[in-house]
Amino acid sequence: KAIDLSNRTYVVMGVANKRSIAWAIAQALAGAGANLVFTYAGERLEKNVRSLAETLEGEHLVLPCDIANDEEIDKTFNEIKKKAGVIHGLAHCIAFANKEELEGEYLNVTRDGYLLAQNISAYSLTAVAKAARPLMSEGGSIITMTYLGGEKVVRNYNVMGVAKAALDASVKYLANDLGKDGIRVNAISAGPIRTLAAKGIGGFNNVLKEIEERAPLRKTTTQEEVGDAALFLASDLARGITGEILHVDSGYNILSLA
Ligand code: NAD
Repeated sequence: KAIDLSNRTYVVMGVANKRSIAWAIAQALAGAGANLVFTYAGERLEKNVRSLAETLEGEHLVLPCDIANDEEIDKTFNEIKKKAGVIHGLAHCIAFANKEELEGEYLNVTRDGYLLAQNISAYSLTAVAKAARPLMSEGGSIITMTYLGGEKVVRNYNVMGVAKAALDASVKYLANDLGKDGIRVNAISAGPIRTLAAKGIGGFNNVLKEIEERAPLRKTTTQEEVGDAALFLASDLARGITGEILHVDSGYNILSLA
């Protein structure tokens, strides 16, 4: 194995179904021998996550964690501490915004919609980093998922772009706070991938077509490409990297419009 994560435990948050980026990350980490703890939002998803987890080798914990609820976050991480002990990393693959605010003009966003997107998609990283820190006594790697729409204006991405900008800044502040504990914090900026969350974004098919035509690699990003990049960031190969936004997007972000 090029990367060996055996005897290490990683928390993977945000598997909804087999298309989820979190699932690709879980498969990559499990492939390197890691023990996993899956967290899911809401009872509706439990069965999905359990049946996916069962397809992986080894024993993997599956626990509920609604990221909007501080008590539930505390409860989940206490449970992880009890059942898994020390953890070596965490993949935060969670975002949410109202569908009707992911099209048209950004300025129509409501206060509630704005706060909802910030709460679930940006603040939640800080909340889980705080809860995970005491369990990461051997250091480790926290990874989140971001998108180009937080750096540049991407049509229809709107309030989620503003949330990703906050998420990207959080990655840097958290990296600075947690570096002294040997904990690295990085984001992967993935090119557009057809998942449940992406379904809510207006004009998504046109975006995929544009990537195929113009991205340096002339192809859209796959979940597996993101999973492999996450495996690298989770491993000691990335021991010198923190506070970084790593683009896994066929190079699309380097282009200008012309
Ligand atoms: P997905 O729908 O499979 O995953 C989103 C997850 O967020 C779901 O599992 C959902 O249950 C979870 N979630 C929502 N509200 C929650 C809450 N209150 N508590 C806990 N979990 C909650 O879609 P995905 O595309 O795999 O998204 C994962 C991450 O990747 C998101 O941050 C997304 O913004 C990011 N991302 C996606 C793309 C893309 O094109 N798909 C591109 C770049 C970044």
